[in-house]
Amino acid sequence: MGLIVKKFGGTSVADIDRIRNVANRIKKTYDLGNNVVVILSAMAGVTDGLIDMAKQITDTPEKRELDVLLSTGEQTTAALLAITLKSMDYPAVSLLGHQAELFTDRTFGNARIVEIGATRIKNLIENHNIVIVAGFQGCDPEGNITTLGRGGSDTTAVAIAAALKADACEIYTDVDGIYTTDPNICKKAKKLVKISYDEMLEMASLGAKILQIRSVEFAKKYSVPIHVRSSFSEEEGTMVVNEDVDMESVVVSGVTCTKDEARITLKRVSDTPGVAAKVFTPIAEANILVDMIIQNTRSEGQTDLTFTVPKDCFNDALDIGKKVAEEIGAENVFGDENIAKVSVTGVGMRSHTGVASKMFAALANENINILMISTSEIRISCIVEEKYAEIAVRALHTAFEIDKI
Ligand code: ASP
Ligand code: MG
Repeated sequence: MGLIVKKFGGTSVADIDRIRNVANRIKKTYDLGNNVVVILSAMAGVTDGLIDMAKQITDTPEKRELDVLLSTGEQTTAALLAITLKSMDYPAVSLLGHQAELFTDRTFGNARIVEIGATRIKNLIENHNIVIVAGFQGCDPEGNITTLGRGGSDTTAVAIAAALKADACEIYTDVDGIYTTDPNICKKAKKLVKISYDEMLEMASLGAKILQIRSVEFAKKYSVPIHVRSSFSEEEGTMVVNEDVDMESVVVSGVTCTKDEARITLKRVSDTPGVAAKVFTPIAEANILVDMIIQNTRSEGQTDLTFTVPKDCFNDALDIGKKVAEEIGAENVFGDENIAKVSVTGVGMRSHTGVASKMFAALANENINILMISTSEIRISCIVEEKYAEIAVRALHTAFEIDKI
């Protein structure tokens, strides 16, 4: 017997049949004598549809009103699930963000949770109610509705689990766990039994869209173990937890690949103080996130400067690059959108050597040229030509024997 927080994603509540399926899963846990708090997403596609409607009116809908609009997706599913459970004679109560005392800052569209009161949730649980909280939403100090950024109901779930000191935080989704790599690319991909918060954060920032990054940061900060599992099967999924000794013995536990970046090169810029600042200040002012940067010294006091930006900012970044190139007298500027970033991740890298050389050798074996390299404590990423992305993923998965984990 315990207190279980369960979060169901958009595909798990996509229609009334699936909401019934969710109700049955909750009923099972409740019947075993547990207290259950449920966090819901909007039905799959609903949030996108709402944004689309607002955009039909204006390209820049007022952010406060957009949050009022977007929060209705989760309000709908929360009410529908409560109605379903009540029709099955279970005591369910739905709560919106402000009723669950989920207080945030004032950043509409991407608000941060500041505090969770949760007194109302606790009272309801004490009286054995099943509490259903609309995910993704909170309220600012003035009582305005805010939303927590796309995928934000994961963060609602983890935050509420932390506030209630829940025994478990289960995130139900349409995949059955976290895999060593994308099973669509590599048939040998294996479901991990557990993964550390840090590895999950790297994988999430590399494009694995299973958990919102903020939810993992929150879970790490408050040591909330997350169980990622499928709402369509009873099978155990993957635990996202604190690092342990087993994990350190595995050098590489994941291979990821993203095609969301493009690169820009400024050729032959002067190798003098202040040049990099001149290039990257306007890029930053345009709110463009730069990921990798390399600078190669040439002879004659000149250097080449290459960096990557999100593909959807490519044209803006290239325009800025051209303007700056003129100012600082660079010889040439060119861009390349046909690149992919393949990465290997694993906390074991902290205590093992030779990971980079093994990665480069595996790519060389496939005749894949490495265009750029970057590393963190637990990740190595290489930029390669986009057409080699899948081959690279499979080669790395085999080279690091990840299928044998
Ligand atoms: N409905 C929101 C979204 O689509 C929040 C969520 O699903 O977590 O981003
Ligand atoms: Mg999600």
